[in-house]
Amino acid sequence: MIFNKVLRAGFQAGRRFQSTGPQASARAAALREAHGGFSFELTDQQKEFQEVARKFAREEIVPAAPSYDRSGEYPFPLIKRAWELGLINGHIPEDCGGMGLGIFDACLITEELAFGCTGVQTAIEANSLGQMPVIIAGNDAQKKKYLGRMAEEPLMCAYCVTEPGAGSDVAGIKTRAVKKGDEYVVNGQKMWITNGGKANWYFLLACTDPDPKCPASKAFTGFVVEADTPGVQPGRKELNMGQRCSDTRGITFEDVRIPKENVLIGEGAGFKIAMGAFDKTRPPVAAGATGLAQRALEEATKYALERKTFGKFIAEHQAVSFLLAEMAMKVELARMAYQRAAWEVDQGRRNTYYASIAKAFAGDIANQCATDAVQIFGGNGFNSEYPVEKLMRDAKIYQIYEGTAQIQRLIISREHLGKFKQ
Ligand SMILES: Cc1cc2nc3c(=O)[nH]c(=O)nc-3n(C[C@H](O)[C@H](O)[C@H](O)COP(=O)(O)OP(=O)(O)OC[C@H]3O[C@@H](n4cnc5c(N)ncnc54)[C@H](O)[C@@H]3O)c2cc1C
Repeated sequence: MIFNKVLRAGFQAGRRFQSTGPQASARAAALREAHGGFSFELTDQQKEFQEVARKFAREEIVPAAPSYDRSGEYPFPLIKRAWELGLINGHIPEDCGGMGLGIFDACLITEELAFGCTGVQTAIEANSLGQMPVIIAGNDAQKKKYLGRMAEEPLMCAYCVTEPGAGSDVAGIKTRAVKKGDEYVVNGQKMWITNGGKANWYFLLACTDPDPKCPASKAFTGFVVEADTPGVQPGRKELNMGQRCSDTRGITFEDVRIPKENVLIGEGAGFKIAMGAFDKTRPPVAAGATGLAQRALEEATKYALERKTFGKFIAEHQAVSFLLAEMAMKVELARMAYQRAAWEVDQGRRNTYYASIAKAFAGDIANQCATDAVQIFGGNGFNSEYPVEKLMRDAKIYQIYEGTAQIQRLIISREHLGKFKQ
């Protein structure tokens, strides 16, 4: 908590640099003036956050990651430490006890944490995903109650939308919420919920109007659900290909009674809230994928400068050095893509197009860079004693969760074509 307070104080001292709210345009104007209209320069505060996250990832996450990967144990000690350092929940508003960071700043931190282990980063990121509906749609009382407690102690939350029968097709979810007096009674089954067994509360999307003629924009309602509500039953921890320390579960809701005070905005507003959160959470997911790709590049580069074949370092074979060059190109472009997407939304602009480009591109390059790193390691790359096979397993999920690679292309094409149809 000490570091958290120090960093918070530092950030508050540098409020003019914050990337949301009225300070944002002043900051943008100051940077334009200083750098001629376009700048890649980070503020001192951003550099400080990046440095703290980088040090924590390299000194504490990297050494612990292989053991968490093998055991699948939830990395709570690392999460607690990240909370103490102020590297988690940064976007909780200041009036709820948080630091009120923008998405751009959060992304810088996320990239560094992902370099260390994307299983740890996903567990941390799932908090942002669970909190975002409350941040964008919660009333004051809901924000103070559910975000405030997370600023007070290292608690987890989760975003409960996907079901066994509906992932990409969110409007196909079947979980029902029926109003009875001052409560809603919820029955249904959720699937693949990150932090599912560790959350203190859930954002839940459920159907409140099952009439097939009712449009998705009116049929669903978003709720905040306390995890200890009777009838909430998390299933077993799923054994996934990668990011194994992250806690993914199905959750059954059986006659779960939710007070009407826990509805976000109002009945029927849920679909827009659940989808709107992605504009703010896809840039950090892309930043996570970029962090993994950067790790693959660094591991492969170090190895290529140590391993010799045919009398020279493999980095001196053009085929290997060009592979490294391709990886470097991809990492740089993925970083620019998530930074653009994050910057757009911090300016208060609709960033759906940029967020999907960043998520799709970074997800793909994480997989390509991890595969290329395994290639550069040769036989050692295929072995769990070396770090890159974990990267290859961990990378795959970036093409699946928070909207698959195909769904991102659907969104990008729709947004792109929409500009021509206007
Ligand atoms: C480890 C993990 C963590 C997760 N965490 C969460 C979480 O915290 N909260 C949560 O709510 N969900 C979570 N998810 C769910 C995740 O978001 C979904 O798995 C994802 O959206 C895909 O849905 P699906 O699995 O039902 O696949 P489907 O929707 O069945 O898709 C199957 C395939 O068909 C393709 N496809 C589907 N529709 C189209 C289309 N219209 N055009 C082209 N191709 C299409 C998809 O791209 C995919 O390749 C998580 C999933 C995993 C595996």
